[in-house]
Amino acid sequence: MPLTIALIAHDQKKDDLVAFAQEHRRVLAKCNLVATGTTGNRVAEACAELDVRKMKSGPLGGDQQIGALICEGGVDILIFFVDPLTPMPHDVDVKALTRLATVYDIPMALNRSTAEAILAATRF
Ligand code: PGA
Repeated sequence: MPLTIALIAHDQKKDDLVAFAQEHRRVLAKCNLVATGTTGNRVAEACAELDVRKMKSGPLGGDQQIGALICEGGVDILIFFVDPLTPMPHDVDVKALTRLATVYDIPMALNRSTAEAILAATRF
């Protein structure tokens, strides 16, 4: 059964996540991908072969939708490139999501080097 990876990036980190997805496109193509709306559109544009399930945009509830998926056991890895330098109107949602990833003990990368380490350590 393919792993499900959730992909999210704050606006200032979207270029980095797109570059990460392009670099790892062959591995990601073996996974089910779910993403917040804008992130999902960016990844799908850059990597046309990837089938990305898009939730709502983060500030409109997308982070919470992915949190709900985690509760249901529907996410194996969370890759969330956060921007630590910009205040976010949906900061509470971001906190709730990272909390749920911790509660359910799923691998969670909040930056690129951790995301690289998780992919390197994962059997696909
Ligand atoms: P977005 O949401 O991918 O729709 O921009 C990400 C976020 O800011 O949580």
